[in-house]
Amino acid sequence: MQTLADQAAALFKVQLTPEQIGQFEQYARELAAWNEKMNLTAITDPEGIQVRHFLDSLSVAQSVPLLPGTRVIDVGTGAGFPGLPLLIAFPGIQVTLMEATGKKLTFLEHVVKTLGLQGAQMLHARAEEAGHMPAHRAAYDVAVARAVARLPSLVEYLLPLVKVGGRCIAMKGDTAQAEAADAKRALATLGGRVQRIDKVQLPGVPETHYLVVIEKVTPTPATYPRQPGMPTRKPIR
Ligand code: SAM
Repeated sequence: MQTLADQAAALFKVQLTPEQIGQFEQYARELAAWNEKMNLTAITDPEGIQVRHFLDSLSVAQSVPLLPGTRVIDVGTGAGFPGLPLLIAFPGIQVTLMEATGKKLTFLEHVVKTLGLQGAQMLHARAEEAGHMPAHRAAYDVAVARAVARLPSLVEYLLPLVKVGGRCIAMKGDTAQAEAADAKRALATLGGRVQRIDKVQLPGVPETHYLVVIEKVTPTPATYPRQPGMPTRKPIR
């Protein structure tokens, strides 16, 4: 994990203390152990977990400031990516880990407790429901998601949760530009605007990753998000 610390510092200017490196080691151990019982990740080799899960999650820090007190929500967090690595690296932030599948939250609760992390909240919900909950609607500075939905649908999950002036970060592969073009109508409807698309090249990973940075410029109309399933069945076009 010292490699993770070196790479995070060199690539994203994220400095990890020995204690934080220890937390990443423990997280990797818990992930491997629980993955034997439930399907949490297809990436099982230690280097893959370090680079494709931990380092990839930390790439978000290059695109948005994560100052103490920043409220972050990770939509469809699965086994905690990118939300948990961000909380380990930036212990002053508040992170809501939202996930529709309850058993994944059992794993996340276990990891948060085992690592002694403060500032995590687990939310068992679909994004389409959480976007109408008073405690979550327009409550966040930053909403992030990796591998959850195509951008025209994803912005309907993310934008309702973010304050005007806040940011959504969509972690994408090489379809980032095309998805951003496709999401124009949805962004205009929901009050968002693509600010920029940042490139991420992880060591030893041939594919380029992209962070689509979206600014919330106006409030999202009260009719959005639509009912569960609608954003993916009928994306706004
Ligand atoms: N973000 C994690 C990662 O990159 O490793 C998990 C990605 S996994 C492919 C997608 C996750 O999003 C699943 O755990 C699924 O249950 C969750 N998900 C999909 N649609 C969702 C929704 N509408 N609301 C909440 N969670 C959702």
